[in-house]
Amino acid sequence: MRALVVADIHSNLTALQAVAGDAVRRGGFDAVWCLGDVVGYGPDPNECVAWLRERDARCVAGNHDLACAGAMPVDGFNPWAAAACQWTQARLTPGSRTWLLALTPLPLVEGDFTLIHGSLRDPVWEYAVTPEVAAASLKRQTTPWCLVGHSHLPLAFRQGAAGPLAGVFLADGEVVRAGSDRVLCNPGSVGQPRDGDPRAAYALVDTEAGTLAHHRVAYDVLAVQARMREAGLPEPLAVRLAFGR
Ligand code: ZN
Repeated sequence: MRALVVADIHSNLTALQAVAGDAVRRGGFDAVWCLGDVVGYGPDPNECVAWLRERDARCVAGNHDLACAGAMPVDGFNPWAAAACQWTQARLTPGSRTWLLALTPLPLVEGDFTLIHGSLRDPVWEYAVTPEVAAASLKRQTTPWCLVGHSHLPLAFRQGAAGPLAGVFLADGEVVRAGSDRVLCNPGSVGQPRDGDPRAAYALVDTEAGTLAHHRVAYDVLAVQARMREAGLPEPLAVRLAFGR
């Protein structure tokens, strides 16, 4: 079975469509796994929810999903994120809001893969970017793989029988194998990458082969920025898309 893994889409339909098109060119996929933050920041919240609903995606809740659906206050957000969240709240259709409210922040298990937004220690808020946090999450991991989002950084941490634990950035086209290790992996962000590469990031999992392939794909950033400006979303959120920051 081949799964398209998407994280931190953040209401960027153009990036999501580019990712899906690229995945189809690479042989397609049977399922969609989403690691949360479907909405927030970008101009297309309802369209991104609809895209996932149409494909019956398995999806965990991220902090932006909970806040934008009204299930959590925006207190923990910086001013731009809070403004985008309020913009999103005002535009979500009842159907989109209901779908977001039904998402769980708790881990979803799909065979050898556990899906979570933050970490297994703190599903909603923790950034699994340091060896310490990765170790705390890996300790709670009961499957060979755990796929996380939240940091918008394509990273893999590996825990072997004897350690040590290493964190590595994933390059475009890189293939990760768990082997006998446990792996914690972030496929990067579809809609707002933060590793200095503005191209949309995603992964393709092959469950029979036991592999995860990380890919990047360029999309029409200018078109998304234009929609954001038209919508009156905060200018810094539009600008950052061009830099992948
Ligand atoms: Zn996010």
